[in-house]
Amino acid sequence: MSELFVILKEEYPNFSYDLLLSQSTYKHSDVLGIDLEYDSENIAATNAYLTGEIQYEFSHTDNSKILYAPLKGKQGIYGVLQIIAPHSLDVPIKEVEFMTFLAGSAGSALENAQLYQQSRKTILELQLINETTYRLNSNLPLADTLSFMAEQIKSSFYAQEVGFFLDSEERVKVKILPGSTPFFFLTTAQTYIDYIKGKLKKENDPLLFGDISLPLSNQSKCYHSIMVVPVVLGKNLKGFSMIMHEKPYFFSFETFQLLQTLVHQLSLSLTNSMLREELKKLVTTDHLTKLHSRNYLDEKIQSSMKKDNEGTFILIDIDNFKEINDSYGHQIGDEVLIQVANFIKGNIRGKDVGARWGGEELAIYLPNVPLDEGVAIAQKIGAKVSENSVPHITVSCGVSHWNKEKPDTDRYLFKRADEALYHAKGTGKNKVVTQGANSKVS
Ligand code: GH3
Ligand code: MG
Ligand code: MG
Repeated sequence: MSELFVILKEEYPNFSYDLLLSQSTYKHSDVLGIDLEYDSENIAATNAYLTGEIQYEFSHTDNSKILYAPLKGKQGIYGVLQIIAPHSLDVPIKEVEFMTFLAGSAGSALENAQLYQQSRKTILELQLINETTYRLNSNLPLADTLSFMAEQIKSSFYAQEVGFFLDSEERVKVKILPGSTPFFFLTTAQTYIDYIKGKLKKENDPLLFGDISLPLSNQSKCYHSIMVVPVVLGKNLKGFSMIMHEKPYFFSFETFQLLQTLVHQLSLSLTNSMLREELKKLVTTDHLTKLHSRNYLDEKIQSSMKKDNEGTFILIDIDNFKEINDSYGHQIGDEVLIQVANFIKGNIRGKDVGARWGGEELAIYLPNVPLDEGVAIAQKIGAKVSENSVPHITVSCGVSHWNKEKPDTDRYLFKRADEALYHAKGTGKNKVVTQGANSKVS
């Protein structure tokens, strides 16, 4: 831009020059110029800016002639080049063309600089969104996710305070979530939280305050700039995020929009992980064996131990299953697992629970069934597997039992079956071992 002046000064040393820049150009570029004011004293300059045509003005006070050439780029006009010719020195047509051309190049240069700045900003914003989304999807624990978000927001927006809150109609008090800056855990913060909660109650829209003054006690720090983004699920408010700075008008509208994007990503990720947890619980069937899931089995045993008199638990593990996988492939391995599952299903009754314990281990829970009956069922299944499986395999079983007379827990019941199973494996496999008594082999 300074080159423009050098050329002009060299070519036309008698004239004086000024750049009148439009508001947004003036603000967003580091070019030296005068803010172009649109008022009645600047009619010719304003016309040049608005029409994109060169304009002339004659000053009666000092007989000077003023020429305004618009700084035209491809996408807009960025200001006006003001050329003052003293003592009614006429500017020949040829010179006017040359000046128009120079003003045009200046306009293009300004435009490029602005576009460059804008795209740099857009790239930085996209990087921020990208990085945040990536981290949000990496399944961190909630507190870590929120701390990460708070750090991102503090460093990207130069925010002094960042807070995350749970809030809903059912909730009496707003819950301040971990990751929020320490200020929010102080009593003075309550004024801010209550005020925002009141605002959100009326409308669930994001809020941007440029210069807010809340009635606070004298010594407390006062935050004038506040941005709030609510987290809404369906039509219901679930919580909100609040960002503050002491200085008035500290956050721009662009920052406000970017914050909305980030908080939106955050709420998606939180909803996702909540849904995932719920889904896991809802799944009661193992998709491969069509036996019940481990979760379902756990629940059934827990409720049985509360209401029944006794129960038997059988843990079943396929012998040398790795060899089956190695010799026949994983798919045949899967089919063998399904065969064992089917033998289980064929030998239990309606109230019994057959389940996939995990991997190639299966389990059965028999409510209100005494130990010897349970052992008999395990033996029957073991024999069926050994006689009918293709390719041929065998299973080992550990059996444990509880009754009302002795205090017991599900964990301990599992542990006893597991020890019995371990004993079966260690003493030749293809057998049923019952709990305790240094594991009685049957
Ligand atoms: P052991 O007699 O001591 O039980 O020997 P093992 O080979 O059965 O025991 P190990 O625990 O060493 O190996 C179990 C294997 O079961 C390893 C794993 O690849 C396989 N496995 C676990 N789940 C599945 C499954 O769903 N499908 C298939 N095909 N294989 C599975
Ligand atoms: Mg195993
Ligand atoms: Mg095994």
